[in-house]
Amino acid sequence: MPVDLNTSVPHSARIYDYLLGGKDNFEADRVAADEIVKTSPTLPLSMRANRQYMARVAHYLAAERGIRQFLDIGTGLPTSPNLHEVVQRVDPTSRIVYVDNDPIVLVHARALLTSAPQGATAYLDADLRDVPAILGSDQVKENIDPTRPVSISLIAVLQFIADQREAQAVIDGLLAPFPSGSTLAISTVTAQNPHAVRATAAYRARGISSTERTQDEIAALFRGLDLVDPGVVLVNRWRPDPAAPAVEDVHVHMAGGVAVKP
Ligand code: SAH
Repeated sequence: MPVDLNTSVPHSARIYDYLLGGKDNFEADRVAADEIVKTSPTLPLSMRANRQYMARVAHYLAAERGIRQFLDIGTGLPTSPNLHEVVQRVDPTSRIVYVDNDPIVLVHARALLTSAPQGATAYLDADLRDVPAILGSDQVKENIDPTRPVSISLIAVLQFIADQREAQAVIDGLLAPFPSGSTLAISTVTAQNPHAVRATAAYRARGISSTERTQDEIAALFRGLDLVDPGVVLVNRWRPDPAAPAVEDVHVHMAGGVAVKP
């Protein structure tokens, strides 16, 4: 079936790709992105800081928590390094299932299926709100051993799930089948940065739903789990790499953290 990419309408995944310097975007996306950046000039830096956070989190989970199975939801377009590249550098037998519901991500998914031969990567086209479809998929059943800890990552995607109870139900459902020691990693748009609030308003003005959350709302997404240090923080402050240039708080629109299932 041909994929309808609806290229005349701006799309969040392609705006994100454009602002990260990617090529998988169209005129409507570039026009919208340029307008949004006028309202919120710090957005591209924030996106880069978020991507670096994803890589630090993935490395931490593999190297310091011994996680070898990853369910990454709201993966986005392939962007170097992808999560599997980070964790397979720690252990090439790691297995990763990527999930996104955007047809253009599906079109480019081949670039995510570049697993080390000892491990595996799989791609699932699904909506994160349909937890049974994710957990019941062949991709998950074939790659994730439910008797061993799993990393669930929802990086820069929960701003698209405005309803707090719905987001919490999704998280509970995703973690339910997996054992103690499984982990949850999140980043999402924070209300603590006025630039972030302006950016979500600029997205909404272009028909893309995006919602910021307060610190308490983000922390509540981890209820019942044990947050690892430093808790819920702006993503640039989550175990920063001392060798990388520091990112200022004012440039960061996302907060998040990592927690372990007790
Ligand atoms: N996690 C990546 C990409 C973030 S962009 C990163 O941090 O770099 C957000 C992605 O979430 C987009 O690719 C978008 O298509 C996807 N997304 C948005 N709503 C979704 C939903 N309901 N189900 C699955 N994926 C969704």
